[in-house]
Amino acid sequence: MNEHLIVECRCSASASKRPKFRNFDPMNIPSKYVEEAVEQFSSLPGIGKRTALRLVLNLLKRNPDELERFGDVLQQLKTHVQSCSSCGNISDTPVCSICANEKRNHRLICIVEDIRDVMAIESTGTYQGIYHVLGGIISPMDGIGPNDLFIQPLVDKCMAGSADEIILALSPTMEGDTTNFFLYKKLHASNVQITTLSRGIAVGSEIQYADEITLSRSIQQRIPFQS
Ligand SMILES: [Zn+2]
Repeated sequence: MNEHLIVECRCSASASKRPKFRNFDPMNIPSKYVEEAVEQFSSLPGIGKRTALRLVLNLLKRNPDELERFGDVLQQLKTHVQSCSSCGNISDTPVCSICANEKRNHRLICIVEDIRDVMAIESTGTYQGIYHVLGGIISPMDGIGPNDLFIQPLVDKCMAGSADEIILALSPTMEGDTTNFFLYKKLHASNVQITTLSRGIAVGSEIQYADEITLSRSIQQRIPFQS
């Protein structure tokens, strides 16, 4: 028996022991529909071509009802999910549940980069104010300037005297500090007190990855922002 046949025999004996051919070309796909699906999946952050192909091949094994549900859920994202007109948080209604909650302190506004930070701070269960979601931070390297962010409604709110305090809760990175300073310059003419998280959050780390106790303390022990 030659060696080739021995390898084939082992393959068929156990699928889990089959050789892994890792050097295949993930775009050498014999179906343009699969190829297109792989293109779409691999356009998502953190998904390479090989992972995309694995996901698509998994979907191919599902029954038609499951696939239809999968497609519906994706389509409904754009149809039903919107940004809260007041704070920029994601919401299924024009105003999000946090802004619509009259028990929250609407004169205390926590400024965050994106909705994952809202979720992280909400999970501490200790913050009773509302939020303002910028939708990013100023990053000249990535071509993101102040005009690309949801800033003006916050400035308008503060200038109109609708807030007592804003908490700058951006990640302690160079981009976060740049954004903090920009907001400080925009808002210091108003009577709003500007505070920032106490630095229990390690420099260079991201808010959403802080543990709940550190994050909770950082909000409670916030300090005046110093330009
Ligand atoms: Zn809102």
